[in-house]
Amino acid sequence: MTAMALDRVGAPLLRVERPVRAPRRGQILIRVAACGICRTDLHVLDGDLPHPKSHVIPGHEIIGRVVAVGAGVRSFKVGERVGVPWLGATCHRCAYCRSGRENLCDHPGFTGYTIDGGYAEYATANADYAFAIPPEYSDAEAAPLMCAGLIGYRAWKLVREARRLGIYGFGAAAHIVAQLAVFHGQAVYAFTRKGDKAAQKLARELGATWAGPSEERPPHPLDGAIIFAPVGPLVPLALASLVKGGTLVLGGIHMSDIPAMPYALLWGERVVRSVANLTRQDAIDFLQIAPRVKIRPHVTTFALSEANTAIARLRAGDLTGAAVLVPPG
Ligand SMILES: [Zn+2]
Ligand SMILES: [Zn+2]
Repeated sequence: MTAMALDRVGAPLLRVERPVRAPRRGQILIRVAACGICRTDLHVLDGDLPHPKSHVIPGHEIIGRVVAVGAGVRSFKVGERVGVPWLGATCHRCAYCRSGRENLCDHPGFTGYTIDGGYAEYATANADYAFAIPPEYSDAEAAPLMCAGLIGYRAWKLVREARRLGIYGFGAAAHIVAQLAVFHGQAVYAFTRKGDKAAQKLARELGATWAGPSEERPPHPLDGAIIFAPVGPLVPLALASLVKGGTLVLGGIHMSDIPAMPYALLWGERVVRSVANLTRQDAIDFLQIAPRVKIRPHVTTFALSEANTAIARLRAGDLTGAAVLVPPG
């Protein structure tokens, strides 16, 4: 099969030919139909995340059809459509796994990082960590649900009571969370890079009450906020716009350093917390909610061979919504 794989940190992905392996016990082999590009993939390419699998195939927003099942797999049959997210394996033994917090597992496997992912014609996944995809979505539309949607949902759950919700960094995850929040009656305040009129326009089209640059104060203080951009200096900025008792959620796996800031920004029982990975229950819940809320991911598709172009455009902030790779049919 053809795949786009990590050559070395900081270099473009390399087009490679790899053997397609039969699925082992508990695994499924998937013919990839679409794979979203997540900002985390950029952190893998840039070496921000340590110790990736050697020459890993990135991509953890995989949608495809099962073409073979390994021994012991009863949850999926050949021909069924599945999605594969970032969490690809857990140990079932550590204190986190045993207390219902498998997202924090001490010995996890992550798709497209420590396990080969979906920038390829085929991918192998653990059947227990794959999910049926609601029929309302095309393959390309469904891809960003698998991470932007899932991580966005997990972050949003922590601020679902906020009447006024700020979202910093209006990319793939934010444009899905905005739809979720508007559906639940929250007023959404969308913060983008300075001058990113396209993202601000998309935010307003999706029902945001206000959209503007991150440096600007919103017209009203926020009850809660989520930062999806990997930009540490946004933390004091967002805190300055938060009411007393408000919660600030950091939704990215990597962030530049958070600058020193006056304690007064945190005082008043404001909370700053991160969100890490996902549990399988998050995936089950979100994939039920998404069609009910009628979440519509806005996607730009690229051929698999154009992965480097798509990544460069995502890096440049030159895309609205989500970027999705489509292997040759
Ligand atoms: Zn564990
Ligand atoms: Zn992701």
